[in-house]
Amino acid sequence: MLTMGVDIGSTACKCVILENGTNIAAKAVVPLGTGTKGVSEVVEIALKLANVQRSELALVYVTGYGRFNFPEADGQRSELSCHAKGMKFLVPDVRTIIDIGGQDVKVLSLAPNGQMTNFIMNDKCAAGTGRFLDVMAGILDKKTSELGDIDAKAKEVASISSTCTVFAESEVISKLSANVPLPDLVAGIHASVAKRVAGLVFRAGVVQKVAMSGGVALNKGVVRALAKEIHSEIIILDDCQIIGALGAALYAYQEIMKQKNKE
Ligand code: ADP
Repeated sequence: MLTMGVDIGSTACKCVILENGTNIAAKAVVPLGTGTKGVSEVVEIALKLANVQRSELALVYVTGYGRFNFPEADGQRSELSCHAKGMKFLVPDVRTIIDIGGQDVKVLSLAPNGQMTNFIMNDKCAAGTGRFLDVMAGILDKKTSELGDIDAKAKEVASISSTCTVFAESEVISKLSANVPLPDLVAGIHASVAKRVAGLVFRAGVVQKVAMSGGVALNKGVVRALAKEIHSEIIILDDCQIIGALGAALYAYQEIMKQKNKE
């Protein structure tokens, strides 16, 4: 029995096809956000990878910022519930989830049974988010996916004092023209993201185990800087960006089982 979870984010669309509520049969990420053709593309890619037709899916659930723009779905769940559900499935003893996406940062606290007990979100500001990193990568004429490796070569961490994306942008440009080495500058950008996110993590409380979801978890530089800032190991899974979609697919499976039990 197959269920599908779709996570329509601000920056990327993610899709998971789950088999019998246990196996990930296919997963896909398309770096296009809500309001784009990213949704139809990511669904098509996942169906192809799993080698199934849409009609073979028992239930499709959608989550994420753009979830109200996907009427084809059978149901929807909030991002917070889906991240908690997906992470608990992959890391059963997780208690703190740090989700850094394209547009916001969320910190979730879970009880040992996986129930969400608290969450903290950043304000309506790009600082500390994927958007901040994407803008900085653009200024440095690099891809966001290259930043982690560049950071690994840093000898010092450049100080970026502005937390506002607009001011940090001019600070980075002036440091570039002052010949601050690129790796040091990138490490400074990551340290500023880490400081910002750590503030939210401390408000929620650092309870082990700590794991990260969202696309920014793919940036090893941010993960290193954040682990240092919160004095904790952070679990990073290869599937960090599809956790929300996985959670939606798990909710869809749960719903099918509920209906079956009623019959
Ligand atoms: P949303 O759900 O808001 O669309 P995601 O959780 O998908 O956001 O994360 C998108 C962000 O992840 C991008 O803004 C980018 O900064 C970051 N990202 C995506 N892929 C990579 C990568 N390969 N390496 C580093 N960062 C990445």
